[in-house]
Amino acid sequence: MPQNLLIATRNSKKKRELETILGDWDVNLLTLDNIEEMPEIEEDGATFAENAIKKAQIISALSGFITLADDSGLEVDALGGAPGIFSARFSGIDADDEKNNHKLLALMQNLSEVNRTARFVCLIAIATPEGIVQTVEGVCKGKIDITRRGQGGFGYDPLFIPSGFNKTFAELSDEEKNEISHRGKALQEAKPLLQRILGVEGVM
Ligand code: IMP
Repeated sequence: MPQNLLIATRNSKKKRELETILGDWDVNLLTLDNIEEMPEIEEDGATFAENAIKKAQIISALSGFITLADDSGLEVDALGGAPGIFSARFSGIDADDEKNNHKLLALMQNLSEVNRTARFVCLIAIATPEGIVQTVEGVCKGKIDITRRGQGGFGYDPLFIPSGFNKTFAELSDEEKNEISHRGKALQEAKPLLQRILGVEGVM
């Protein structure tokens, strides 16, 4: 019987990214859509780590499944690290990807290329129903483009050019993005932890 692993997300694009990376493991991947009556967890921590740990611990305790939760976002140097933990709600209460990207471009419109450096950060927390929690981090450095490019991905992908590339995240295939993304790197770091916690063989 494959071991269950609950991924604490309802974001279908993020779920697909995680499934692509973990897909060949001998584990049964569940998401919040497979679990009835899971509350929305408020992301009110001061750091990515606080948010990810809170989500993983609460959902694991409620569901009884080993749970992987992530919190991620974009940090722009010229904006003092903003939007950071506020990446999803950068443009206010009715924020969406389009409005967030519009706000980011507007705030950065007078900045030259050297001042457009940024990074995506992903913090993954893995919790057991007994309350044990471990974390790993992945970072992807890059810069913010002057205009949107590409149709793939989600969030700030059309504006983020990873270091060493001339394309935005939204112009890369899922596989190309997973290779270098903050979430892809954090998941690679998480693999040995998951292997130990889930007690599965041959998942490396
Ligand atoms: P979350 O907390 O991991 O859901 O991410 C919060 C926000 O960060 C998302 O709503 C996006 O705006 C942004 N974000 C996180 N990861 C990515 C990514 O891989 N591409 C683009 N935007 C991202």
